Amino acid sequence: MAGNITLTIIKPEAISKNYTGPILNMINQAGFSIAAMKLTKLSSKQAEEFYAVHRDKPFYNDLVEFISSGSIVAAVLEKDNAVEDFRKLIGATNPENAEEGTIRKLYAESLQMNAVHGSDSDENAQIESAFFFARSERADYL
Ligand code: ATP
Ligand code: MG
Repeated sequence: MAGNITLTIIKPEAISKNYTGPILNMINQAGFSIAAMKLTKLSSKQAEEFYAVHRDKPFYNDLVEFISSGSIVAAVLEKDNAVEDFRKLIGATNPENAEEGTIRKLYAESLQMNAVHGSDSDENAQIESAFFFARSERADYL
């Protein structure tokens, strides 16, 4: 159902620091169910496509290089009001501004290496979920 999913990525620096388990635990504790999940790695081309909305930003090239630099975990999360609630759980883009108890406050390293991605709208949640997962890789109820 539209409005009930969001797409998250656990970013390469968080994976390499073994924060995957703690982050997934926080996600489940906050009431999100995992509806699809995979460990994968983006090519530069896939990363350019995923972050195409940021093409004109000064940080775009660095962002593409960073997100394709190592393994990531992509997951579809299901919960009422998923997009907004997940962005509250992850905290501000810059971890220096993130509230106490948020994923980025606890696990992010910097503005770029900020541990996790979260979709910014219901529409983008659908687009990003389809980017990573075939129909057969997603829970039946999606
Ligand atoms: P995300 O899309 O990853 O959930 P966000 O929506 O909070 O994060 P966006 O504005 O969409 O932030 O930026 C996408 C990503 O680009 C950020 O998560 C961060 O990794 C990186 N980024 C954003 N702003 C900057 C910046 N000024 N300098 C370097 N990297 C940045
Ligand atoms: Mg964003």
